[in-house]
Amino acid sequence: MTAKTLTQFICQNCGASYSKWQGQCAQCQEWNTLVEELVNQKSDQRQKTSLSKALLNKKLLNFSQVERLSEAKQRFLSNIGELDRVLGGGLVTGMTILIGGEPGIGKSTLLTQTVLMMVAKSAKPLNIFYVCGEESPSQIGMRIERLLKKSKSQNLREKLNKALFFVTSSDVDEITTLMAKQKPDLVIVDSIQSVTTSDLTGASGSVGQIRECSARFIDQAKSQGVPVFLVGHITKDGAIAGPKILEHMVDTVLIMEGERSGQLRILRSLKNRFGASDEVGIFQAVDWGLNEVTNPSELFLENQNQAVSGAATVCVMEGSRPLLTEVQALVVSSHLAMPRRVGRGIDVSRIQVLAAVLQKHARLSLSNYDVFVSAAGGFKLSEPAVDLGLAVAIASSMSGKKIPQKTVFIGEIGLLGEVRQVAYFERRVKEAKRLGFNKIISAQNYKHISQVIKAL
Ligand SMILES: [Zn+2]
Repeated sequence: MTAKTLTQFICQNCGASYSKWQGQCAQCQEWNTLVEELVNQKSDQRQKTSLSKALLNKKLLNFSQVERLSEAKQRFLSNIGELDRVLGGGLVTGMTILIGGEPGIGKSTLLTQTVLMMVAKSAKPLNIFYVCGEESPSQIGMRIERLLKKSKSQNLREKLNKALFFVTSSDVDEITTLMAKQKPDLVIVDSIQSVTTSDLTGASGSVGQIRECSARFIDQAKSQGVPVFLVGHITKDGAIAGPKILEHMVDTVLIMEGERSGQLRILRSLKNRFGASDEVGIFQAVDWGLNEVTNPSELFLENQNQAVSGAATVCVMEGSRPLLTEVQALVVSSHLAMPRRVGRGIDVSRIQVLAAVLQKHARLSLSNYDVFVSAAGGFKLSEPAVDLGLAVAIASSMSGKKIPQKTVFIGEIGLLGEVRQVAYFERRVKEAKRLGFNKIISAQNYKHISQVIKAL
């Protein structure tokens, strides 16, 4: 082994460097901003060599020399429809995908299922690396046994025996060496927080380690043309900065969301170099794993067989896909000086604005009432297009008037109570009609919230 590589600690706020870690940066006085980095001793030399003419010519590409994605990179399917959808049509060779989310949300489950589906559907024999730092191979093995029981494929176990390899090392340099030697078709690193390099002194999970290890995986993925999944845990308050700093390094960032107690899991792409970002995949957590939800609207619409008060159907865009869901409101008289505004899956400030608009422009005296609002199925609704449905649900709960069946509300509400047109209107209407909703309330037939409420 060579001598230990030199490291330094760089303040992420002001860039000051230190030879030792310290809690506070002496330069800018910020706390916990120092991150360990490798000292690049070769930088002077590199600058000179890269100035040579031959090298410079290599660095300049004529437009005709530029490889097009379709020819240079190969796409292949994970065979999990919702995952392929979020990835923009499958995996791309050499891409690094960060998949983030709270511990226990189902990231490992999704990736194990991906392994099984790929092995089951692949025509050629595969070689897949599963780097297990979070769980032991036997724990992952147990999960696979559960999935195998569900599978109808006879020879899947046999194929899996040949294709899946657990990597038990947590040393990034050992793992990348193994990758170079064994040439896997897919690598899953579960998780990036559990991997380290001995070149840095920091513990596993420290920002410096996460960044350096990721950089090495990304290099290896690119040079070998192998897709690599990096699992990154984030806590509820986003306390671990790790995955955040990776977002600009990797090609694709997927986030898995959902309430752990609920069944719904949403896989969202925050960044995708090879496809549209903001695309969404929907899964249902079941006893054996994650079930794809290809027709999400049907999942959220429950109270559709009777007219009720306080519940309205809205249509939101999740990525490029319209989705019908229900919002519920409960309005009860309050004995508090400051009546409560509580939202589950809906921003409280949005409820406050809507309550104020209803009070001023629809003459609903909400100042003496508590307002509770909730989105169905643990879904987070942030789109303004749900305003109209929310306002109607609140008004309906207060008055006790029932909202007619098969009615969907699509519209934003302005501060003057006006109903506004929203983006992708046609697509939303089409989805509503597909599901048998024949009455669409929107800016096209009502100009003001007071008219909508009166018409109920
Ligand atoms: Zn500083």
